[in-house]
Amino acid sequence: MYRVTIDTEACDGIFACLTRDDRFAEDDDGLATLDTDEDRHRAVRREEGRVVAEFDDDQRADAEQAAEACPPNAISVEAIDDE
Ligand code: SF4
Repeated sequence: MYRVTIDTEACDGIFACLTRDDRFAEDDDGLATLDTDEDRHRAVRREEGRVVAEFDDDQRADAEQAAEACPPNAISVEAIDDE
């Protein structure tokens, strides 16, 4: 499993992430979020200053490409243990 975190304070709404990984989406404020299709992740959480979700191991390379493409480094991808 891995966790994707978007730092919404750092996000600039450039949307390079959307073209690398279709799980990223634009929210009502013009910033990046993760789509809320629960078949694709454990649950998207919107917390103060960030959006967080955990995924099984599929599409991890896409998430890493989105993180690399993000100019302000607003996306992090980290491995986590199965719970
Ligand atoms: S690429 Fe980075 S700055 Fe641009 S919308 Fe995605 S998370 Fe935000």
